[in-house]
Amino acid sequence: MFEKELMNLKKQDLLRDLKTRSSRQGPVIEIQGRRYSNFASNDYLGLAAHADIIKAAQDAAARYGVGAGSSRLLAGGTVLHERLEKTISDFKGAEAALVFNSGYAANTGIIPAIAGEGDALFSDALNHASIIDGCRLSRAGKQTYRHRDVAHLEALLRKEKDCRRKIIITDTVFSMDGDIAPLADLAALAKAYGAVLYIDDAHGTGVLGRGRGGLVHFEVSPEPWIIQMGTFSKALGTFGAFAAGSRQMVDWLTNACRSFIFSTALPPPVIAASLAAVRLVRKDRTLVSRLLNNRRHLADGLRSLGLDIMGSETPIIPVRTGTVRKTLALSEYLYRKGIYAPAIRPPTVLEPRIRLAVTAAHTERQIEKLLEALKTYYKKGQGA
Ligand SMILES: *Cc1c(COP(=O)(O)O)cnc(C)c1O
Repeated sequence: MFEKELMNLKKQDLLRDLKTRSSRQGPVIEIQGRRYSNFASNDYLGLAAHADIIKAAQDAAARYGVGAGSSRLLAGGTVLHERLEKTISDFKGAEAALVFNSGYAANTGIIPAIAGEGDALFSDALNHASIIDGCRLSRAGKQTYRHRDVAHLEALLRKEKDCRRKIIITDTVFSMDGDIAPLADLAALAKAYGAVLYIDDAHGTGVLGRGRGGLVHFEVSPEPWIIQMGTFSKALGTFGAFAAGSRQMVDWLTNACRSFIFSTALPPPVIAASLAAVRLVRKDRTLVSRLLNNRRHLADGLRSLGLDIMGSETPIIPVRTGTVRKTLALSEYLYRKGIYAPAIRPPTVLEPRIRLAVTAAHTERQIEKLLEALKTYYKKGQGA
């Protein structure tokens, strides 16, 4: 039934397959019996296999069981869920927060809960796919502004007159380019035009603003009209997501958000792990500073090799490679050298690239080895 479609993808070098790891997540992983230094995970602080977090999950499994059993509106919620919401709302400087089952479930649930027909959404051109899907599900009018282009956004906002509610939506850190949205300007525009600002801090949480996220990075104070969505699944090393904002916003989502209402609550061990992760980030300032040091090391090294890192400002560092063919060739070369650095191709991005994600857990040596491999590859003219 899908043979033709699959063949088509294969012909264009766009057929993807799955890599299966047989070790913990971390800076070194094992795939099919071979060890690779791993530049493909969003575990930016190296917390996915942290001993304290594993212990928290084990204890919670023993005490509360594994499955949550039902949705939060029935009997699925535990004191841990409530504690995590309190902790994350404090961490984000918001009045309240609600936990979601994943970032994907948060964006596809929250956007339709806060916007519908007669509302106007303003979305950055490079926003994450889950935002795009959430916008579609909402049936609200959507206008896409050019990537990080505040003047374009303002022109669109000015033209929009007859709508009930305006919502500006942006990733804080863009997941494939690693650049940062101009949140201070966006907040000023939202205020001037009476709009809601919805930020997806999936890659900002644990990374920007001493780990607290995009708003702290830009010194924008939380407001009732700002919704901070974020995930536990990237820098915090666990799983799930949250929305932090006003108490009323949380009460409304509890009543209206379909991905929250019609889905089983996250397992207690996962919630306990997220709690432990947030506590670690608050307590241990060296986690984020190690991450930023490693990021600087790798970015400087790539630039001095003359590689184009496409405006990256964060631990997400794309390397522009040209065609899909060249991208695959480089990724395969690195793989043979024991380095896992995946090729990112259309339709995920327009311009093919290698997406490097560096973490606090990488050693200097691992970063140096990656740089040496790239240097050799380009010296041999293989990337040309
Ligand atoms: C990863 C990601 C999501 C989805 O989060 P999951 O918890 O993995 O479902 C949403 N938004 C952005 C910007 C992301 O990078």
